[in-house]
Order: sequence, then structure tokens, then C-alpha cells
Amino acid sequence: MASGGSSESWAVTLRGRPLAEISVRLIDAETSRTRATGLTDLEGRLWVRHPDRGVAVSLCAANRTVSIHRRAGGPVVCTPPMSLPPDGTLELADTPHCAELAIAAECSTVMRRTFDTLAPGLGGAARPPTRVVVPDKSPARLAFVAPVSWPDGRPELRLQRTDAPSGEWPRAGVIAHELAHAVHFRTMPLRTRLNIAARYSAWLASKVATGEAPTHAPAIATTPLVAWLEAFGMLGERFDAYARALGSRVSAAELGPGFVDEELSGGPRLSRQTPGYWPIDTIRPIGHGRIDLGVEGHVYASVFVHRGAEVGLQRAVADYLGSGAAGVTSYEQFRTYLAAVA
Ligand SMILES: [Zn+2]
Repeated sequence: MASGGSSESWAVTLRGRPLAEISVRLIDAETSRTRATGLTDLEGRLWVRHPDRGVAVSLCAANRTVSIHRRAGGPVVCTPPMSLPPDGTLELADTPHCAELAIAAECSTVMRRTFDTLAPGLGGAARPPTRVVVPDKSPARLAFVAPVSWPDGRPELRLQRTDAPSGEWPRAGVIAHELAHAVHFRTMPLRTRLNIAARYSAWLASKVATGEAPTHAPAIATTPLVAWLEAFGMLGERFDAYARALGSRVSAAELGPGFVDEELSGGPRLSRQTPGYWPIDTIRPIGHGRIDLGVEGHVYASVFVHRGAEVGLQRAVADYLGSGAAGVTSYEQFRTYLAAVA
């Protein structure tokens, strides 16, 4: 156990993985009163000042990025109080419910690694955490972000149980993709989000009515609205994969230009290690040849890759998110918006 004068620390782990930025309550074992609250640090360590045998801890699936609930309107998921083991490691029982703690840790990591880099100040700072409901009880089979939710109208992320990261984190891209939608929706006024909710649902219903799968993919035509929204989901997913692959070897300032170069050169770092990697380098920007505004890969390439190469990726993202506040929901509207703010 690491010992630092009057403080001691415990490594909080699940399947041996450290859980960074998880809410912790220190509880008096006798009175059940909360003595202190805090977060595990970036290495997943829990620091306790003057620990004694009368203290227990409860871990909650919440941090500055998300709060995780098992049902809409329900409480944040927390563990029962546990005593602190003498060996300095708090390894959690590997139950399905502990997956919620891992999701909260992963959301916080992705927010820091990806959205704090792409959109400093807009990603997580000074905003209430995004509510996440897992498992989602709606008929949807995939993760999604509701642009408006009960009771306060805020966007809400819904994850399926199969999205729960555990072991090898089989669907790491899901969290980055969905957090992108949450970050985007948070920039928008309520009326824009209500409008999106109605139009996106209409598209899903039209697909179901014609017997087609209501899914989207980089090269498939959907609608200008769906392509506009999903282009940012693509960015979250792809940028996070890039930042994760490079780890701490590259500074935040280098990540943006490096990522744009990666995309424009066919993904030499990512294509080998990412199953199903979809190269973007053959997609020319909108306005040069046959490009469909209803194809998310085309919108993505134009707004983030080619424009990112021209004005910088952070600026391209700032314009995209800024246009959300102005009610923009398609590439065509974005062009008008850019001409007006230039
Ligand atoms: Zn999406």
C-alpha cells in the first residue's frame, strides 16, 4: 500500500483494470453517514486521509462526464458500502452491475482524450454530466442518444447491455460515437433537438416500414439530417481510435494535424489494427465531383477531414458545434451558416 504521511491510497480495479475518475463516498461504518466524497484519480487510485478501520467506501458510476442509471429517472448506480482491504487493492467483484462503473470510467477517459482535445471547453467543462441509461428498455437494439428526454429535456445516452465494456472492451468505439452525439446535442436549443427527434424517428420508421434495417454506415445514403449528425459520431469514433492507438506519445496539439494526415493517407496506423476500417482518403470534398449530402462518409470527409486540413481540426469542430447552437441540421445549412459568420 502506498503511504504518504497522513494519506493512504488504494488501487480500484475491475478485472485488473484501474477505474479512473469514479465517484467515491467515504462512509462512517457505525453511523452510515458520509464523511467525504471524491473521485479516483487518473490512475484509478483512491486517496483517503487519515484512514481508520471505521471507514467504508461506496463507489458510484458518476463523474464530470456522465451519471449512469439503470432506469430513466432512477438513482445513480452505486455499490453497497465496502471495507477497505489491507493490501491496497480494491478489486471489484466481476458482476454485470460493476460494468456500469467501467462505463463511467471509460466515458470520462474518452471525454478527456478526444472531446477535450477536439473542442476545448465544449467537451465536458462546466456542464452537467450526461445521463446514461443502461440497459436501454426501448425497442432499439443499438446504442443511441435521445436528443430530448424526461424530465428536464436534456439529451440522454442509452446503451444496450451488450455495449457494456468488460474484459477486452469489445465495442470501445460505441462510447466515443455516442458521446459525440451528446456533445453535439448539448450545443443546441431545445426546439432544434425536438425537431431532430421527430425527423430522425420518421427516418427510422420509414426504414422499418420498407423492411430495411434502420442502420447507417459511412458509405450508405440516408438523409441529409442523418448524414449531418452521424458525421460527428464518425469523427468521435475515429479520432478516439487514433488517440488511443498513439497513447501518451503525442501531445494534444499534435493529435489534430496527425489525425487529418492519417485520414488523408488511407489510415496507415489504423487500417491494420482496426477490423472493418473504412478508408476515407478516396472521398473528395463536397463540391468536387459526385458527392451525396445524404452519405455520412462524404459529409464527414468534407467537414472534418478536408476542412480540417485547411483551417485546422479544432476550428472545423468549433464551426460544426457553433452551427448546432444556430440550429443547423444539414451540410447545406452549414454552408449558409459559414458564409454568414465569415
Ligand atoms: Zn450515431
